[in-house]
Amino acid sequence: MKTIIEPFRIKSVEPIKFTTREEREKTLIESGYNPFLIKAEDVIIDLLTDSGTSAMSAKQWAGIMNGDESYAGSRSFYRFESTVKNITGNKFIIPTHQGRAAEKILFAILGGEGKFIPNNTHFDTTRANIEFSGAEAVDLLVEVGKHPEIKADFKGNMDVDALDNFIKKTGAENIPVVMITITNNSGGGQPVSMENIRETRRVCDKYGIPLFIDACRFAENAYFIKHREKGYENKSVLEISQEIFSYADGATMSAKKDALVNIGGFLSLNDEELAMKCRNLLIVTEGFPTYGGLAGRDLEAVAQGLDEILDEDYLHYRIKSTEYLGNKMTDAGIPIIEPPGGHAIYLDAKGFLPNMPVSQFPGQAIVCELYIVGGVRVVEIGSVMFGKYDENGNHVAPAMELVRFAIPRRVYTQSHIDYVAEVVIEVFQNREKLKGLEFTYEAPMLRHFTAKFKPVDY
Ligand SMILES: *Cc1c(COP(=O)(O)O)cnc(C)c1O
Repeated sequence: MKTIIEPFRIKSVEPIKFTTREEREKTLIESGYNPFLIKAEDVIIDLLTDSGTSAMSAKQWAGIMNGDESYAGSRSFYRFESTVKNITGNKFIIPTHQGRAAEKILFAILGGEGKFIPNNTHFDTTRANIEFSGAEAVDLLVEVGKHPEIKADFKGNMDVDALDNFIKKTGAENIPVVMITITNNSGGGQPVSMENIRETRRVCDKYGIPLFIDACRFAENAYFIKHREKGYENKSVLEISQEIFSYADGATMSAKKDALVNIGGFLSLNDEELAMKCRNLLIVTEGFPTYGGLAGRDLEAVAQGLDEILDEDYLHYRIKSTEYLGNKMTDAGIPIIEPPGGHAIYLDAKGFLPNMPVSQFPGQAIVCELYIVGGVRVVEIGSVMFGKYDENGNHVAPAMELVRFAIPRRVYTQSHIDYVAEVVIEVFQNREKLKGLEFTYEAPMLRHFTAKFKPVDY
């Protein structure tokens, strides 16, 4: 097989500041061993998130200059609207400043006390917006999705039988909407099959409940369907995407993912009365319906990005290059969630450091060492992010201790990724030298963003 080459040339470059190991050791101490508190310019390769970190194309930048900044009826809005309509088939397209703003509007109207909203796995902002409305967010992921070591094609699927039972038990009148997240971000970026979306729709129809798609990574999901699901190998990614959305009544989207922009999002739907309510709320919280929370130029960039994301040479490179990093790690014996997801590799920190107690944050210890050894910034998704205390103040760990390597779109070349692999492998080879961590500061909520640590003394 030939080398996967980036399907683009570089026209504009942004320098990376190189630092020495000594400088990084100092930076890490100053930031309390928390990479969220490190200045971005002190990072060599930044894999903290794939959200809003994409490189825009020449045509997107041209669109920025070409944006129509009229308050009402901007040309850029109509281009954005027709692009989103063509993909989703939805009648009403409402621009928002990012994904969570679309969620906030939708759940402010559909949520509320006594309501339940099922999903394969809710993303944190989706869960937060549902719970903020007083409703309950329910995850109904298929069993295979809960086992990192099992290789399967569609580990992001909804457990359709569990959904049916849940609706029966809870009462359809208490479930205003069912969501399905593609790809399943909180479940390792694993895809959902077309069959599963169709079956989820069938259950929704049985009880008369609308289905909405959390569409942040719809194109990556469609690419997986094309290559893993029978009957789709000769369909275009656009056709597959259109079929996905045809089973839904609407969608929320963060354009910071598969629309290849740094800010933006939308809510799309078919129900006219609901659309009217959403637009009224939009005017209060985001802006007039033809710009939402965005400038005209942002709408141009989103529309152009949505055209580009459907380019199958791009998607091939995207999925293969994420897999490339995953394969380098597994070849070196490093445990990861299998198979690699679309936008990130998730390292299994418990397998990496089996002797470190989870109360000493093995994931965070790996994150810190990756920064010291190579200036690589990644994020812990484990006890630091989701750990709790029981009534005696003992640490209660989540099911998995993960370290996420999220790959920004079109930003890093293969040599950057080779470098990341070399850094991880070096850390793995010296893993018995890693020290656990303990808190020196811990906020009462969302503690991972601001926490400070020090190495545990032996
Ligand atoms: C990023 C994301 C969101 C929220 O979008 P923002 O633009 O960050 O507000 C919602 N759902 C999923 C699956 C996401 O990945």
